[in-house]
Amino acid sequence: MTDKRPALVWFRQDLRLADNPALHAAIDSGAPIFALYVHDDEAAGSWKPGSASRWWLGRSLAALRESLDGALHVRSGDAREIVPALAMELDASGVFWNRCVEPWRMAGDDAIKNTLQSADIEVRTFNGAYLYDANTIRKQDGTPYRVFTPFWRKGCLENGRPPRKPLPAPGRFDLHGADPGQDEEQHLRTPFPRVEGGADEWQPGEAGARQQLEAFLESGLAHYDEGRDRPDMRCVSRLSPHLHFGEISPHQVRAAVLDGRGPKDPGVDRFLSEIGWREFSAYLLLHEPGLPTDNLQKKFDRFPWRDDPEARDAWQRGATGYPIVDAGMRELRRTGYMHNRVRMIVASFLVKNLLQHWHHGAAWFWDNLLDADLANNSASWQWVAGSGADAAPYFRIFNPVTQGRKFDPQGDYVRRYVPEIAQLPDKFVQSPWEAPADELAAAGVELGSDYPEPIVDLKASRERALEAFRSL
Ligand code: FAD
Repeated sequence: MTDKRPALVWFRQDLRLADNPALHAAIDSGAPIFALYVHDDEAAGSWKPGSASRWWLGRSLAALRESLDGALHVRSGDAREIVPALAMELDASGVFWNRCVEPWRMAGDDAIKNTLQSADIEVRTFNGAYLYDANTIRKQDGTPYRVFTPFWRKGCLENGRPPRKPLPAPGRFDLHGADPGQDEEQHLRTPFPRVEGGADEWQPGEAGARQQLEAFLESGLAHYDEGRDRPDMRCVSRLSPHLHFGEISPHQVRAAVLDGRGPKDPGVDRFLSEIGWREFSAYLLLHEPGLPTDNLQKKFDRFPWRDDPEARDAWQRGATGYPIVDAGMRELRRTGYMHNRVRMIVASFLVKNLLQHWHHGAAWFWDNLLDADLANNSASWQWVAGSGADAAPYFRIFNPVTQGRKFDPQGDYVRRYVPEIAQLPDKFVQSPWEAPADELAAAGVELGSDYPEPIVDLKASRERALEAFRSL
């Protein structure tokens, strides 16, 4: 401890020490660091963390507290009041934070900045969460991109300022007082994980993020190009919750992926373009703050959605009678994660076959995903629904049976999460209602009792969706 004025570092979705530009600059200023986290659920409104996110956040904050030798100060309340009040009470030499893209956070940041500046306290903010600065990426005519490929290829890779090298983890630095354990455990009490053992696969925190990245570099990346669509294989990185909470930065991920490999290596190119989708979603949210609630294509405001709570309930429970949909929804409930291909399948099923508003799906994901992210979740739901900027055409309606057969060819993924039909032969595991009675009996499956009959007919519901779309 020193008697120098402290620099206040406000942690949010950047729960790491390495490659943290705000922390780095604060340490560079020579002041001791006062590390702060604020639970500001009220300002977040509908977008306060869901149950799965809370579970993650609690563990991630505990990990951060440990790396700060206990000196993480956690407060609950309105950050617009807490941050300036603390800075004044501490007589802080400056307040440092990394910027976020959530509209409610950005509005709060502006207010906090104004209050601090009128009190003559220096404010320094940084881009710690994205490779490119969304404010500088524009089309030639000066307007923002609306389509992913030109945004990524031209706006970012070709014309964007090349991403910086990751900053090293800081050496020893002075910290402002350890804080006795606060109420975050109580604050973050949550019903997740819902199934015992469901959370075993995850290690929230900076060290866990690093390990997850190492595992991916070792065994996933080489197969990523051809394997990323296969939920039955382990080819994807599963870095999304770590990236969302900022336990690792995209700069660190990019540098590690490029280390010793060329950008044109198919796995590398493909993987970095998925990171590009993350950049694009944040970019969309920044330029379209209504993204989480408003259809980007206004004609969808007239879309004749149905309101069917029973169908939604079956979807949420993983009891639609379509094995790949049910496996995905059960994976989500059990582990807080779902493979991207399956996210697309279950989302298409909800908004197209069941004709339920994408808001219902986005809200369920928000509460259940460990990686729930306002930009990625909203952009992806709008993409699937067809109402987004660069959306899948509405008539592209996934058939869950053909998707299942293509991307889970032996049914391993389905069998893992829908054990009641595990004994069916591969041929019927994606479509149990097609199995003859003797095959069902041999597999111990009574449809309608052990496993549901399909809740909608695929052909008829597809026609109904196309008709609804034509009515716009
Ligand atoms: P990898 O394939 O290893 O990709 C690496 C990283 O790239 C991911 O961690 C993620 O940060 C980013 N990424 C990959 N695909 C996308 C994408 N389509 N859009 C934006 N970023 C992407 N992702 C979230 O992080 N949070 C969400 O709330 C979320 N909701 C989704 C909702 C729907 C309906 C759909 C279809 C997709 C959603 N995604 C969301 C995107 C994607 O499914 C996940 O990012 C991905 O499955 C995470 O697994 P991974 O880390 O193994 O991905």
